[in-house]
Amino acid sequence: MKSRNPVDREARILILGAGPGGLSTAHFLGRHGFKNVTVFEKLGRVGGMCRSVTEDNQSFDLGAIVISSAYREVLRMARRVGAKLERFEGATAFTYDETNQSASYHDLLPYLMRGSSFSTFCRFAGLSLRYLWKRYQIRKIFQRPGWVGIDAHPDLCVTFSEWLDSNGLEDLDRLFEIPVTTFGYGSLDEIPAPYVLRYMGIRTFLAMLFSSAPFARFLPSFLVLRRFKYGFQRFWERMAWDLNIRLNIDIKKIERREEGIFVKYTHPMQMLGDEISHAEDHARFDYLIVACPLLLKELDSFLDLTEEERWLQSKTRFIPYAVASFEIADLVLPMPVAFHLPLPSLDQPMIIAQQHRENELMAFYARLSSSEPTEADELRLRENIKRYISALGGRINEQDDWHSYDAWLYFKHVGVEEFRHRYFDRWEEAQGENRTFFTGGLFDFDYVEGIVRYSRHLVDRHFYVKASG
Ligand SMILES: Cc1cc2nc3c(=O)[nH]c(=O)nc-3n(C[C@H](O)[C@H](O)[C@H](O)COP(=O)(O)OP(=O)(O)OC[C@H]3O[C@@H](n4cnc5c(N)ncnc54)[C@H](O)[C@@H]3O)c2cc1C
Repeated sequence: MKSRNPVDREARILILGAGPGGLSTAHFLGRHGFKNVTVFEKLGRVGGMCRSVTEDNQSFDLGAIVISSAYREVLRMARRVGAKLERFEGATAFTYDETNQSASYHDLLPYLMRGSSFSTFCRFAGLSLRYLWKRYQIRKIFQRPGWVGIDAHPDLCVTFSEWLDSNGLEDLDRLFEIPVTTFGYGSLDEIPAPYVLRYMGIRTFLAMLFSSAPFARFLPSFLVLRRFKYGFQRFWERMAWDLNIRLNIDIKKIERREEGIFVKYTHPMQMLGDEISHAEDHARFDYLIVACPLLLKELDSFLDLTEEERWLQSKTRFIPYAVASFEIADLVLPMPVAFHLPLPSLDQPMIIAQQHRENELMAFYARLSSSEPTEADELRLRENIKRYISALGGRINEQDDWHSYDAWLYFKHVGVEEFRHRYFDRWEEAQGENRTFFTGGLFDFDYVEGIVRYSRHLVDRHFYVKASG
């Protein structure tokens, strides 16, 4: 790994992407005294996959929603900017019968426990405690952000199903399917165990479990899941107040030379009484930080990748995951969240969320079958949502104009082979080559706290200010 070199306080730093990765990196650079930090964002808004909307004066999250008390960096930033949080609790389950086209709700806990007797409850509680003990024993491995040195723990470099089996925890599979599979991180037998173990630390595990329990409302806030009162995106918007962000930037070309980083891009210009036009411009920076989880072909389109960067990027995978929202008439969910259990096949909603029970807006989350999402996916998902909703007694309110659809190439990650073979050590060695750094979920895990922690680590490690004089 390269040693830390001091960086001039006046250095011009470009960050690509105003999602949690880019904004937190800009925030930490600012706190280290760097003034010339610019964030270029492709879209007309900040927040990336933290996407929120306001409808009938109520905020809704259509991307990232929840945080737990384990989100220490996020909570620290939230306190700094005075962002308000509220509790997010209450979940149920539903099932859909294809043959009769009928749907019914069922309690979550008996499904997760595989029964409702006292003895099943005791066994489930025992297994949960066993998980917490196992996770506590390996806590040190997860204290440092990122995965350098993870290959020294071959027992962890397996799929999560294999890890559960080898620890006598296979009967907790239904419990983990919720935060892993329904939340878009793939099935338990495809996701490498370190990802889940990092994400499901003791506090988050307990918060997930307690938030779905019938007694959740009696628990103190730090034991349950919370959300930003005005939405996750609004929190990032507030963070962005102090940062130099340029929206709607289309990067055309980035050349990394000895003398600096040369960027060609277009930006929108508003002509009075005319349409918005896109002007071409160029700028020079000293450092580049890529904070957007792109496909190799997208990166290739504007950046001359080195052979090592290309190889590292070529190993990455994504999961196509979509969120659609509609106004649903004649239906109120018994709880703010309903999980489709047992898990349905691809292209079917796995979660229905009604964040404000007096508001008709509902969001539907599905893993898509297409690796490159198309319009046909949206239609297929819409048809499935219609069937489910009608089976639950509601209907899409066609009179209302509200509808959103976002298909994300989500969870940039690698497989167990890469965990076993120094993949992440090679990334750490590549950080800083050609004045370029990378941050985001790939380097830790694709959840907001992991990304923010990794960004902080990157800044602490590589950007400390050169003493003046
Ligand atoms: C449906 C859903 C639910 C989720 N729920 C949770 C949750 O409850 N809790 C949690 O912690 N996490 C959750 N997540 C995960 C969380 O949203 C992501 O981990 C996080 O947003 C990733 O941050 P990022 O900055 O790496 O990438 P992104 O959020 O994708 O941000 C990248 C940014 O880069 C921009 N960009 C892309 N290409 C370019 C380019 N060429 N030039 C300039 N800018 C570019 C994008 O427009 C985007 O704004 C959820 C994600 C999804 C999809």
